[in-house]
Amino acid sequence: MTMKLSLLPVYLLGVSLFFPTRGWAEAPPQLVDLSPNEYAALERISVNAVAGTISFLAADELEGRGTPSRGLKIATAYAASRLRAAGATGLGPAGSFYLESSLEVVHTSSHGLTVRGQDGAGFRSSLIDGRDASLEFQGEVPRANTKTAAQQRYAGPVLLPVGEEDQTWPPPTPWLRREANRLQQQGATAILLEASSNSTFWNLATTRQQTVRVDRSRDRYALPIVVVEVGSLTDNHLLELSIPANIVESTTVRNVAGIIRGSDSVLADEAVLFTAHIDHLGLTASGEDRVYNGADDDATGVTAVLGLADAYGSLETAPRRSVIFTLFWGEELGLLGSKQFAQAPPWPLDKIIANINIEMIGRPEAEAENKMWMTGWEASDLGELMNAGSRRLAVETFQHPSYSARLYRASDNFSFVQQGVIAHSFSAGSLHDDYHQPSDEWEKLNLPHMTQVMRGLFAGSLPLAQGEVTPSKR
Ligand SMILES: [Zn+2]
Repeated sequence: MTMKLSLLPVYLLGVSLFFPTRGWAEAPPQLVDLSPNEYAALERISVNAVAGTISFLAADELEGRGTPSRGLKIATAYAASRLRAAGATGLGPAGSFYLESSLEVVHTSSHGLTVRGQDGAGFRSSLIDGRDASLEFQGEVPRANTKTAAQQRYAGPVLLPVGEEDQTWPPPTPWLRREANRLQQQGATAILLEASSNSTFWNLATTRQQTVRVDRSRDRYALPIVVVEVGSLTDNHLLELSIPANIVESTTVRNVAGIIRGSDSVLADEAVLFTAHIDHLGLTASGEDRVYNGADDDATGVTAVLGLADAYGSLETAPRRSVIFTLFWGEELGLLGSKQFAQAPPWPLDKIIANINIEMIGRPEAEAENKMWMTGWEASDLGELMNAGSRRLAVETFQHPSYSARLYRASDNFSFVQQGVIAHSFSAGSLHDDYHQPSDEWEKLNLPHMTQVMRGLFAGSLPLAQGEVTPSKR
């Protein structure tokens, strides 16, 4: 990195530094000085260190870090060991780095599912949501008319027509939820959906058969949902149905959290919270490359949090405020790990002055190298405060014209926003073609860019950690 050679001498000479290519001549930003010790900490964030971390987290051996999975457990053990090495202490019970939650995994299996006609011929079918108990049925399956009045009564499974235009995944879930609620109230016991066997809907309905829920009482749908190949049932509604029960498995998952306590006796009660999600999508059911590596999403964020912990931990004196480093499970399932953290916080939420959540910093958009955008730009002045520190490294945080507003609610920061905490996601990426695909591999990342952005996050967050500035809501 050229930074190493150019910045340190300039700093030592006390010369203020401008970047001629950035066009800031008219309104030079207020640059925050870094001490030699802070520079030394910053330099620990190197391309090699970044490559070392990310190539492990995104390795096929971690099997896509699905929630819950063995790969995710290994990733969290690795993160805890790195936080330990950085000199952090665990924020969990008795100094543990783990904040555990119990979780139920509901496997909906089509094994044992039968949909047979009058003549005994079986129809191709797949169960997309089951029940705790199995269901056997023999008789007429009426076609539910979505237009009929609420007084219509059923007494068994019903066939629900899905228009051609609806045959994409996810199925219009709110619609299906509403229909399931309505049909249950009208006495139906199961829903049969018709789908064409060459539709996306069919493909996904037949491969995604595992759901995860924190609270077992919250079912996805009010009724079991079976997808049946379209055309099968047009002339024959006399059916024999056997719907197998879900298999429910209890397990535990864990957020990882470590803290470097502040060195100022008063300010140490306040903390800057750095976060990223360590989970991703796990494995696909079939295909040549089955691993959703989630290199950019969000092994880059985890690498950043671990790199920041290492940099902060290497300071001769800890920053005046406390700094907390947390990695969440279950983001991909609906911000589950961060919700859990925010509901049972190991640190008072009103003492978290900012949550800096790091998401996808490995693949910049064209013209956006060494830049990052902050979500929810309008909500606080955090972006501007970060810039005061990071611009010394020519790293700028900006308001992305579309993503900043759109993605504010899309990641773990939002679990904290909902509790009144100033919380934003910082991203230096793009929604590239490999996003949420098995092809999101670490070799495709722009590591020098990512490294520089991490350095920017360190330099940008230092004034906050040192208690020099405090962000406020707008
Ligand atoms: Zn993500």
